[in-house]
Amino acid sequence: MTMIQVPIQKPLDIPNLSKSELKELIQAQGELQQDLFRQAREVRQQAGVDEVLLRGVIEISNYCQKNCDYCAMRAANPKLNRYRMAAEEILEIADQIAQMDISILFLQAGQDPQSDSVVEEVIPEIKRRYNFPVLLCMGERPQNVYQRFAQLGADSYILKFEVSNPELHRDIIHTPLERRLQCLRWLQEAGFEVGTGNIVGLRGQTLDHLVEDIRLALEIQPNFVSSSPFIPNQDTPLENIGCGNLDYTLNTMAIYRIALKTPLIPTVSALEKIQPDGQLMGLNAGANVMTINFTPPEYREKYSIYSKKRFIVSLDHALNTIERAGLRLKVLS
Ligand code: SF4
Repeated sequence: MTMIQVPIQKPLDIPNLSKSELKELIQAQGELQQDLFRQAREVRQQAGVDEVLLRGVIEISNYCQKNCDYCAMRAANPKLNRYRMAAEEILEIADQIAQMDISILFLQAGQDPQSDSVVEEVIPEIKRRYNFPVLLCMGERPQNVYQRFAQLGADSYILKFEVSNPELHRDIIHTPLERRLQCLRWLQEAGFEVGTGNIVGLRGQTLDHLVEDIRLALEIQPNFVSSSPFIPNQDTPLENIGCGNLDYTLNTMAIYRIALKTPLIPTVSALEKIQPDGQLMGLNAGANVMTINFTPPEYREKYSIYSKKRFIVSLDHALNTIERAGLRLKVLS
């Protein structure tokens, strides 16, 4: 029996929906799904975040201390060739990014404390040269490390909870969920804008777990939030399970947009990997960020966070996708 009547007459009050209603939205198809997406786009427009912002990512190290079951960069994978970029290499690429309509410089790595000194060298230099907002994604770290990154001028930090159920989180990520939540609190205390989010389609994940993910994201009140479909990755314990459900992922993105209104919501490259035009679908579901990959080609294949054959987002692809979505590019002044 359906509980949500289509067409949806009034704005969805996501925080007050029952578990069954949220499950219905996560599984929405056909008219209900189109209504959900329409409402997400309306919220994006009314919240004044309708222009698409481009981030330029440099993946600076594929070393990682952790062992997430879905990721080939896990410490226990001996088959991966590891790299760690030098400060000069990163700054050279930052120079190129600064010439383009890219609004945020994004430095991403595995959980690799040995790359801290490089990050500490490049953050002040990037701020001095370009005054770019700098976004970091470098895993669970001690509080003093977050404080140091913030003091050096980094603006925002992504730490996805990935899976919010404590047992499932421990089963797949092998560390306590509470540790990650503590890190998110430290990041907010250090003054960062924080990003978080989930993966759809992990081993043992149910619709109840996805409802928990949505509720946790609402509790955190992040500045960025994402939902990504699981993609099986070679040389990992989850290499033989299927991809995450594309519709569940898009529906979760739309739910995040309607509930949280203003965050930056990326349409991730994994959507395009699952289906051509997947990122266009993400923009139609309420997203407003695309991430262009500037990692040098010799390192890209080694940054196998979801697959050795990732979809690499180019500037041309992003601009074309934004145009086809009928949206405009956001340029920071
Ligand atoms: S997902 Fe991130 S933290 Fe987990 S193994 Fe991969 S790089 Fe490391």
